[in-house]
Formats: sequence, C-alpha cells, structure tokens
Amino acid sequence: MSKTNCAHCGWDGDTDKVISKAGLEFCPACGNGVGLHHEQPTLRDHFAMAALVGLASGNGLYSPGDVAKYSYMAADAMLKERKR
Ligand SMILES: [Zn+2]
Repeated sequence: MSKTNCAHCGWDGDTDKVISKAGLEFCPACGNGVGLHHEQPTLRDHFAMAALVGLASGNGLYSPGDVAKYSYMAADAMLKERKR
C-alpha cells in the first residue's frame, strides 16, 4: 500500500484515505490538496509537452502512442543538447 504525505500539515497516511474530489486529492487531516508536489512536471516533461504540440498537430499522421514516444525522444534530445 502506498503512502502519501501532506506538505501542509505533515499528515502521512495511506493513499486510499485521501479524499478525491474533482480529480484532485485532498488531505483528510487539513483539507489541503496533497500529492500535487509529487507530480511537478520535470524539465523533460516540459520539453516533451512542447514537442507534443507540434507532433499532435500533424492531423493524425502519428498514433497517440507514437506522439508520446516521439515527444519524449525529442525531450531527451533537448536535454542532451542542453548540456553541450
Ligand atoms: Zn494536511
């Protein structure tokens, strides 16, 4: 079973105790949103999102699976180039 902690009050409990509302998760102890701080997009995600916009606008040229794959391939290439 996975655990979640609340960045607001320090609550640390089972993920299934978390209150789900409107697709977001809330701490049962203090009511603030939890888990969001665990899912911050990384720089790689940002690059992938940028690539995704271009790839997905290709009018069905690529399948969703390919768009996802190519987006992250492009992101990895960006990260590699960024280090030069
Ligand atoms: Zn809390």
